Amino acid sequence: MRYSQQRDLILQSIRAVDTHPNAQDILTMVQSNFPTISMGTIYRNLSQLVNNKLILELTFNGVSHYDGNIYDHQHFYCTQCKSIIDCNITSSNILKKFLKSTKHDAQNCQILFSGTCHDCKSKPKKEIAC
Ligand SMILES: [Zn+2]
Ligand SMILES: [Zn+2]
Repeated sequence: MRYSQQRDLILQSIRAVDTHPNAQDILTMVQSNFPTISMGTIYRNLSQLVNNKLILELTFNGVSHYDGNIYDHQHFYCTQCKSIIDCNITSSNILKKFLKSTKHDAQNCQILFSGTCHDCKSKPKKEIAC
C-alpha cells in the first residue's frame, strides 16, 4: 500500500476515538485538515484500511462503523443514546464452542450486546424533574 497523507489522517482519526464512527462522522473529522476531501475518497481509503486489517468494519443496523481497535473484543449498543461501546470479551471460547457444535469453519465472531448503557441507566428520568 503506497503512503497517502489522507489515508494516514483517516487512520489516525479513527484510532483517536473509541466511538466507532461511520463514514459520515469520519468525513467530518478529516475535513478540518482536508476541506476538499470527498465521500468517495473516504470510502476508498476505508476499504483499503479494512483490507489491510488496520481497522475493523462493523455493521450495525445496516450501517458500517469503523473501529481502530483491531484486538479481539465485542460491542455493546445502547438503544437510548445509540452509542457503541467496547466490551473486553474475547471470542475464542465462543468460537471453540461453535466449532464443537457445528461443522462450519468459523474464523470470526462478532457479538453485539444491546440494551441500556450505564450512563443512560443512571440518568434521572425526565418526568421526575420539576
Ligand atoms: Zn446510553
Ligand atoms: Zn470496538
